[in-house]
Amino acid sequence: MDFRPDPGLDAFRQEVRHFLKECLPADLRVTPTFSRSKPEAVSRWQKILHARGWGAPYWAAKHGGTGWTMQQILVFDEECVAAGAPTLDGMMHKLLGPLLNAFATSEQKAEHLPAFFKGERLWCQGFSEPGSGSDLASLRTRAELKHDEKGDHYVVNGQKIWTSHGHESDWIFLLVRTDTSARKQAGISFLLVDMTTPGITVRPIRSIDDAHHLNETFFDNVRVPVANRIGEEGAGWAITKFLLNNEHATTADLPMLKHYLRQLHALADTPLMGGGRLRERPEFAVKLARLEAEVNAVGMFVQRVAALEMAHDPQAHPMGSMLKVRATELQQRITEAHVEALGDYGAVAYPHPAEAAAATCGELTLQGLARGLANEMFFRRASTIYGGTSEVQRSIVAKLLFGL
Ligand SMILES: Cc1cc2nc3c(=O)[nH]c(=O)nc-3n(C[C@H](O)[C@H](O)[C@H](O)COP(=O)(O)OP(=O)(O)OC[C@H]3O[C@@H](n4cnc5c(N)ncnc54)[C@H](O)[C@@H]3O)c2cc1C
Repeated sequence: MDFRPDPGLDAFRQEVRHFLKECLPADLRVTPTFSRSKPEAVSRWQKILHARGWGAPYWAAKHGGTGWTMQQILVFDEECVAAGAPTLDGMMHKLLGPLLNAFATSEQKAEHLPAFFKGERLWCQGFSEPGSGSDLASLRTRAELKHDEKGDHYVVNGQKIWTSHGHESDWIFLLVRTDTSARKQAGISFLLVDMTTPGITVRPIRSIDDAHHLNETFFDNVRVPVANRIGEEGAGWAITKFLLNNEHATTADLPMLKHYLRQLHALADTPLMGGGRLRERPEFAVKLARLEAEVNAVGMFVQRVAALEMAHDPQAHPMGSMLKVRATELQQRITEAHVEALGDYGAVAYPHPAEAAAATCGELTLQGLARGLANEMFFRRASTIYGGTSEVQRSIVAKLLFGL
């Protein structure tokens, strides 16, 4: 791999910056965070991107995407985060969309893709169940095939858990068991379900950052047309493996890592009450330098995994797992460093960040700087769990890379 800077990318970066300056409305600008933005913001921003021809920045041109290289995608994401653009519907952009492009029928694409491009349909993921997380193939949500005068349909019964943004999504992509007699992986099918279908109940789970991102989702005799099944009945597991491989690599979240680093630099430069700045303290300066080096290393790692994926190299899968472990642990350490740098103000910012607005430190106010940092640090505890736990990723690396 060639890691040297590509001068051609500079022009692209300027184009993206210019676009963001001209087209990102002031009222849509937010402090970047891991979480998907509110539906209205996602929808408006998606429409603006689509109008510019950038509605699917991660997809190949033949699927209506921009056809950008991995380097261009990284620049685009980095500039969007730096400008405070809303966080898009990653479920569709990075997980379901590539899967639909590969496996959906033309009718299914015609049903879902135009609505996605126009920002009119947001998605959530219904995979995990109580007792079926890492061991996903043990899932029990049942879909039984029925025939009546209205046509062939499944009747779905069961429970999903940790449904991110389930309360503010229009559709859910769902793994269900259609055959209880087959080997556990063989009896699974992949369905797309309208969240307004009668029989679906969404209940909130409040997370450690005192926010509502997560839900339990219950299915009670939910009728799903057979036409909403992706692939053959029982082929859901093979399709899902394609999606999960993508999920491991995307959780690296390099643009957010770079944003966290910028925040840490800002904290390091904030005047301290007793004089001086954190940057001048050797212990902190070493920590900052180390974290910066690690973010740069993850940046190279991301490019390496992307290059392997583009070459369809089988090592992309275990290397993606290795990247997931490395990058998510780094997300946790940088956000912990934020809170450590805030000292007492880190505690003030949690759980009511607005109260931190009154706190001042030397000539600069910590308002804005402190806000939300503790919440982000707390939520990042989950990043080594979602998208496949670190223990499971390490097992993948041991098995596929070292044959253990
Ligand atoms: C914030 C957040 C958002 C999420 N969003 C979604 C979502 O939108 N949709 C969705 O479907 N799911 C979602 N999940 C669920 C996520 O995919 C699961 O939490 C994850 O797969 C782990 O499953 P589990 O929680 O059941 O833990 P378990 O699988 O029960 O694991 C418990 C512990 O045992 C360890 N362990 C399990 N199996 C092994 C093994 N074979 N070898 C070694 N150690 C093992 C794990 O590493 C972990 O430490 C989300 C989770 C979180 C925390």
